[in-house]
Amino acid sequence: MAICEILSVGTEILLGDILNTNSKYLSVELAKLGISVLRHTTVGDNHERLAAALKTALERSDIVIATGGLGPTQDDITRDVCCSVMGFELELNAEIAEKIKSYFNSKGIEMPESNLRQAYVPVGGTVFENNHGTAPGLGLKKDGKCVVILPGPPYEMAPMYHESVVPYLAEYSDGAIVSHTVRTMGIGESAMAELVSDLLENENPTVAPYAKKGEALLRVTAKAENEECAEKLCAPVIEEIRSRLGGCVYGIDSASIEQRVVELLKENSLTLATAESCTAGYIPKRITDIPGASSVFEYGAITYSNDIKQKILGVREETLKAHGAVSEQTAREMAAGIRRVSGADIGISVTGIAGPGSDGTNKPVGLCYIALDAEDFTTCEKIETGKNDREYNRYVNASRALNLVRVYIERKRG
Ligand code: ATP
Repeated sequence: MAICEILSVGTEILLGDILNTNSKYLSVELAKLGISVLRHTTVGDNHERLAAALKTALERSDIVIATGGLGPTQDDITRDVCCSVMGFELELNAEIAEKIKSYFNSKGIEMPESNLRQAYVPVGGTVFENNHGTAPGLGLKKDGKCVVILPGPPYEMAPMYHESVVPYLAEYSDGAIVSHTVRTMGIGESAMAELVSDLLENENPTVAPYAKKGEALLRVTAKAENEECAEKLCAPVIEEIRSRLGGCVYGIDSASIEQRVVELLKENSLTLATAESCTAGYIPKRITDIPGASSVFEYGAITYSNDIKQKILGVREETLKAHGAVSEQTAREMAAGIRRVSGADIGISVTGIAGPGSDGTNKPVGLCYIALDAEDFTTCEKIETGKNDREYNRYVNASRALNLVRVYIERKRG
C-alpha cells in the first residue's frame, strides 16, 4: 500500500490563526483511494525548514501532498522549494500567465506583476488547472517519488484534488480508479448541482461538480479492485445524471463543444455558416480547429459595422434603427442572411457587447443574442454573462452559439 505524508505550509497554522482542515480533508479522501496517510507535518513559511521537512517526508513516504504557500508574495515559497528539492527547473508558461491576467480582468482588477510568479511551472512536471482561483497546482514525479502541490484555500484545494489529483495518483491506489466527466452547457453550476444533490453525497463513485468557462461539469470517480468493476460502478450513476440533466449534457469525456458540433454536422450531412459581430471569428476558429471541419463548414462572416450587416447579410435598416445592433431582431436577420448568402443548411449569428465599455446604449456589458436559422426551424437565445471581461464574454458567447447548433441537430434527429 502506498504511503503518503501531508505537508501543510503556513505560519498562520503554527500560530493557531487557522485550523488545518486541509489535512483532515485529504486524509479522508486519500483513504478512499487505498492510500495510507501515516503522517501530517506542518511547517511555517520558511525556506530551510520547508526544504528539510520535504526531504524527510520523501525518505519515509511514496507521496507527499503539500498545501498552501502557492500565492504571489515572497513568503509563498512552496513551489520554489518543492521543485528545487525534487530537481525540477521552473519556466514561465505563457498560457497560464494569460489565464491569470484574464481572471483579474473578470473581477475588474488590474493584475499585480507579482502574480506572474504563479505562472512558473516545472519543466517535465504536471500542471493542475485551478478553476476557482489563480494558482495552478503542480505534480512532480521522479525516481518513484511523487510530490503534489495544492493551493491553501480549501475551496480551491478540494475541487482541484477531485478534478486532477485523483487521476494523477491512480497508479498508487490499491485497485483501479476510473473517472469520467459529464459535460453540460446551458445550465449553471449551482442549478446543475441542485438537480443531482443526492448523488453528491455518494461515497463510491463520488460525484463532484465544477465550473469551467461557461460550462458546468460533473466528475464521476469510482474505485474498485479492477477497471471493469470501477466502470460498472460509474455507468448507472452517469446514466442517472444524463436522465436528470437531459439535453444539457453534450458529452461524456468529449473534448469540447466544437468537437461535438463537427461530429453531429458530419453524421447528419449538414453544413454551417456563421455571421458574427462581437465574437469576430471565434466560432469559425474553434470549428476549424477540429480536423475535417472543411466538409461541414461553409462560410464565416465578421459583420462588425451596421453598414456591413445590411450589405452582406441583408439586415434591414428599420430593424437596426428600431431595435439596435444588439437585439433579438438583428440576430435573427443576421442568421437568416448568412444562411441565404452561403447556401449552408444552418446559419448562426452572434451580436452582443463584449465589454469592457458599453455600446453607447443602456444595454449591459455581457448582453448577447445568438440566433439560429434553418429551413425547418429558427430560434434566438438571450445571454447575460454579467461579466465585464471581453475575452470571457467572447469565449462563452461562441460556446453558447455552438451549443445552439448542437441542440438543434440533436432534437432534429430525435
Ligand atoms: P493564496 O494565493 O490565497 O495566498 P496559497 O496557496 O498561498 O493561497 P496560503 O497563503 O498558505 O495559500 O493560505 C491562504 C488561505 O488558505 C489561508 O489564509 C487559509 O484561509 C487557507 N488555508 C491555507 N492552508 C490551510 C489549511 N491547511 N487548512 C485550512 N485552510 C487553509
